[in-house]
Amino acid sequence: MTDCIFCQIAEHKMSAKIAYEDDEVVVFHDISPQAPVHLLVIPRKHIARISEMDAGDAKLVGHMIYTAKQQAEKFNLANGYRLVFNNGREGGQHVFHIHLHLLGGRPMHWPPG
Ligand code: AMP
Ligand code: ZN
Repeated sequence: MTDCIFCQIAEHKMSAKIAYEDDEVVVFHDISPQAPVHLLVIPRKHIARISEMDAGDAKLVGHMIYTAKQQAEKFNLANGYRLVFNNGREGGQHVFHIHLHLLGGRPMHWPPG
């Protein structure tokens, strides 16, 4: 989608600090980090929100989670980290291209608020 900023990042049309990419996903540093490590894992495929996934997207979303796990190891988050999908406006989603937040490097609190 041409008006989607995360599609533009995936296509290298908008700059981002990319940590990893492969044929299916791109990982980049969040522009407004909420923890010492705050990465976003996105699929190259435009899916607006988790609630718009179909069954065929399950493997791709699994790959996003596995990629986050590998990046957590790369960024030395052995003490723990948080993975978050915000879904929809009340779920705290602001960018409507699915993204998995990987947050780490500080203790996480619960409930997140
Ligand atoms: P969410 O609120 O779950 O939709 O998260 C969107 C995230 O994208 C926020 O943490 C923003 O700081 C981040 N973000 C928005 N625009 C950019 C950008 N151009 N590059 C990197 N991160 C971004
Ligand atoms: Zn998109």
